[in-house]
Amino acid sequence: MNLRLRITKKETNHYNTRTKIKHLFAVIDLDRSKLYPQNFVSVLPRNIKAIVKPANAFEGLFGNESLEMANQLLKKALRSRPDSETTQAIRERLDLLNPQLNNKTKCQNCGKSIRQSKQRFRPYKFCYICHSKGF
Ligand SMILES: [Zn+2]
Repeated sequence: MNLRLRITKKETNHYNTRTKIKHLFAVIDLDRSKLYPQNFVSVLPRNIKAIVKPANAFEGLFGNESLEMANQLLKKALRSRPDSETTQAIRERLDLLNPQLNNKTKCQNCGKSIRQSKQRFRPYKFCYICHSKGF
């Protein structure tokens, strides 16, 4: 297997006012074929859970290696120097896969560690108490 990520952009319109670019992450196997979709393996899932039973095709293929494999593929994709939008989308995926990294952030006022929300793109800079004090 010679796996790579194939990242494509898709524009979606939000209520006809704003165009949002969505990145689609597909896992491909270059040993299988150089052409898409013949080399399609699976979609890269946004979240990979500790595996009890596979939740998607990707986990079905890679089992307990899923998280490691997804991280490797994303880092490989980063090394191919994609444009800044794609880089941002890849980093977002890495954060989603590794939420424990986000939990280490500390409040910039009192130094208390902050639990980051997975839904938020930008991390919180202050803890809830400092934030409510006006920081
Ligand atoms: Zn604080």
